[in-house]
Amino acid sequence: MLLGRKQLLIGGEWRDASDGQTMPVVNPATEEVIAHVAAATRADLDDAVRAARAALSGPWGKMSARERGRLVWKLGERLMEQVDEVARLETLHNGKPITESRHVEIPMAAECLQYFAGWADKVQGDTIPVKGNALVYTLREPLGVVAAIVPWNFPLLLAVWKVAPALAMGNTVILKPASQTPLTALALGQLAIDVGFPPGVLQIITGSGGSVGQAIVEHPGIDKVAFTGDTSTGKGIMRTAAETLKHITLELGGKSPNIVFADADLDAAVRGASVGIFYGKGEVCAAGSRLLVDKAIKDQFLTKLADRTKKMVPGDPLDPKTRLGAISSKAQLERVLNYVDIAKKEGGTLLAGGSRADIGTGKGYFMQPTVFGDITPTMTIAREEIFGPVLAAIDFMDVDEAIARANDSIYGLAAGIWTRDIKKAHYVASKLQAGTVWVNTYNVYDTAAPFGGYKQSGFGREMSKYAVDYYTQVKTVWVDLA
Ligand code: NAD
Repeated sequence: MLLGRKQLLIGGEWRDASDGQTMPVVNPATEEVIAHVAAATRADLDDAVRAARAALSGPWGKMSARERGRLVWKLGERLMEQVDEVARLETLHNGKPITESRHVEIPMAAECLQYFAGWADKVQGDTIPVKGNALVYTLREPLGVVAAIVPWNFPLLLAVWKVAPALAMGNTVILKPASQTPLTALALGQLAIDVGFPPGVLQIITGSGGSVGQAIVEHPGIDKVAFTGDTSTGKGIMRTAAETLKHITLELGGKSPNIVFADADLDAAVRGASVGIFYGKGEVCAAGSRLLVDKAIKDQFLTKLADRTKKMVPGDPLDPKTRLGAISSKAQLERVLNYVDIAKKEGGTLLAGGSRADIGTGKGYFMQPTVFGDITPTMTIAREEIFGPVLAAIDFMDVDEAIARANDSIYGLAAGIWTRDIKKAHYVASKLQAGTVWVNTYNVYDTAAPFGGYKQSGFGREMSKYAVDYYTQVKTVWVDLA
């Protein structure tokens, strides 16, 4: 066994689940079990909630905003000092190329911590002119205990998008990573201890979504659930959270359109379509999984894209040259292959890929990057989120049809526009129902820019100054001066 047995972080201490149960963690590139993590029980969760509340009324609640900010900053700094080790863990449990973990995801997580560290002492209330003789002012206060429930595709980054603003605003956090990818959340917990966070401020609870995830959402001692994951899970969380009227933010699925107009720089657009769907093996909520391409250039464009795609081969995720890693789990690979079968049966034309891949080891959940042409808007792969390296190309006749087809989805997470016409770019951007629109680029993010969904892609915003609002509440104080 590579990494051994991992425990829960509760009240500043590492410990086994109360009933001793564990869950295996599998490296999707080798199919080997690399660790066993504790499967937390409700009793463990109760202990974590108690410790989180004690921290709020104890050292954490009493700490000045500036001191809090310093600790969050230090956590980001320490994360960057350990970037090689944490990136390796991210690649081992997720299967993503080490270059993505080492040079993109973990540095972005560290930057996010340091960005929100800066906000800690800059969020303030107002004094409000009211009628009569009274002093009225507002205080921005933390919500209390925040639970962060995150998926397996960017395990540490999506956790930090929640942990960083929550801690900076003075909340305590119980973080539950996905069962497939718990290792980097646990590493973050250790770093928080190392830099001096008081016990109970950041706790890590591992276990399955159906048991401890559900228990978190039901728990009356938790004030907010910040969730990233599947839309159907998000709907369940919303229903369950209604019982205790928790605050919730939901970052859910997507089926994002990447629109290529005939006047675009076609080589740049081919690269953008490729990055849009194949970065992160397509296991990206904002993946440009619907390529909408102008009928006038469709054949030329898809030929170029298919040629480029056929040259992309998956490889060992730990090899720095690898650009396409392993699909995160066996179940996910099977799901993706099933969508390939459905697309073929429904009349899609396979232009590239379409099969499981072998990197020469006979092991691992690898998949060829896949492009389908002749997809119509009603076909299954044009409508359902696949969450894998499968692109559905759909054509359009004019700007209005492009917009209508782009918006013809229950989702509204992101969209891309490729054109040299600046008027068209802004016009289309204004008409798209999506939380993020990229023009002549795709899949770019910055901690200072908000990210979140329209429609069934959820609500709330991560990163940026907007995130601060989702981790604070406003208290109005009236002082009678008459
Ligand atoms: P998932 O919904 O199955 O799981 C996400 C998390 O929720 C995991 O930690 C899981 O254990 C937990 N969970 C599962 N059932 C639960 C329940 N009943 N109560 C509480 N917690 C529960 O999603 P996934 O398969 O891990 O992730 C893929 C999905 O995440 C895709 O739909 C993707 O689009 C979405 N995603 C969205 C964003 C975004 O920012 N909008 C980012 C990344 C991923």
